[in-house]
Amino acid sequence: KKRIAVLTSGGDSPGMSAAVRAVVRQTLASGCTAFAVYEGYQGLVDGGDMIKEMQWEDVRGWISEGGTLIGTARCKAFMERPGRLTAANNMIEKGIDALVICGGDGSLTGADKFRSEWPSLVEELVSSGKRKAHEVEAYRHLNIVGLVGSIDNDLSSTDATIGCYSSLQRICQSIDYIDATALSHQRAFVIEVMGRHCGWLALMAGVTCGADFIFIPENPPSEQWEEEMCTIIKKHRAMGKRKTIVVVAEGAHDRSLKPISPLMVKDLLSDKVGLDTRVTTLGHVQRGGPPCAYDRMLATLQGVEAVNAVLEATPETPSPVICMVENKIVRKDLMQAIKLTKQVAEHIEKKDFDSAMKGRDAE
Ligand code: ATP
Repeated sequence: KKRIAVLTSGGDSPGMSAAVRAVVRQTLASGCTAFAVYEGYQGLVDGGDMIKEMQWEDVRGWISEGGTLIGTARCKAFMERPGRLTAANNMIEKGIDALVICGGDGSLTGADKFRSEWPSLVEELVSSGKRKAHEVEAYRHLNIVGLVGSIDNDLSSTDATIGCYSSLQRICQSIDYIDATALSHQRAFVIEVMGRHCGWLALMAGVTCGADFIFIPENPPSEQWEEEMCTIIKKHRAMGKRKTIVVVAEGAHDRSLKPISPLMVKDLLSDKVGLDTRVTTLGHVQRGGPPCAYDRMLATLQGVEAVNAVLEATPETPSPVICMVENKIVRKDLMQAIKLTKQVAEHIEKKDFDSAMKGRDAE
């Protein structure tokens, strides 16, 4: 019977707790033993009480909780082999032979590295005398399964990451609130949304809130964007619009990769269009609060599938990441998904924006 641990790592997102709940309960329902590792990889490195056996009732109510109730962290020690060696020792101590990680591309890269290094880590534990050969016999192979938890929806190979629709919903509500006051005073608002190098949140927020102009990193505006934006906004005002909303992704830039900041946009709207303009940076409200129904569903179905993937894995199976593609839960090759994700950033760096736009959907 497998002993399966789950951890959350990197930036938090709504639905991570729901994913932990699903992994714990599917593990128990399959007759296996469930563990939660607290504070991401730091908990694996620290061991002891940071790795707790979980029972059915330990995750009661977690489906509707925001953030991650087992904590998350960025762990420097896990980036280096000695940290991963300690983590391996702690896992063997608890008898854990499979790990489900819910995090972003960094966390999943670390997970795959851990898996590929695992046999040599176990070897080193024996050769250094930390473990006896018979103690590690059952731990020659480590199963890793990835779940993508991120508000940014920035991983290739999946249509949605756990948390992105909750964040979009929060952004939508926030812009609705801003709309009401903008309309009253006939103001313009420049709204900065999260997403780092990915424009999904900004693009979807713009579409769902009827923004006048949107800036995203994958599809920067033309060289004459300042003039173009002002012309469009003047046209909208001439058509009778009493408010103006411009959404700027935090990673927005022009075609020469010069950052486009909300302040630059505000100055243009004030000086060239003559609008009373304010900047609102939505910040961490975009990450907080309970997960929306879609994220609860995504986290639950994917958590269940992650445990099934662990139970069906062979030592030859490459580490999978659980994805949502055209409304179906599917397993994809984890490292291939990360490679495609990294390619998008490379396309942007090379100013190949057509490929960047296609990149996240590429197979
Ligand atoms: P987010 O998208 O929210 O930033 P992320 O998972 O990409 O999430 P990172 O900060 O990149 O976040 O990674 C989280 C943790 O994963 C790191 O602090 C580190 O412990 C581990 N990690 C990341 N990359 C590696 C790597 N190449 N090797 C080993 N561990 C890694």
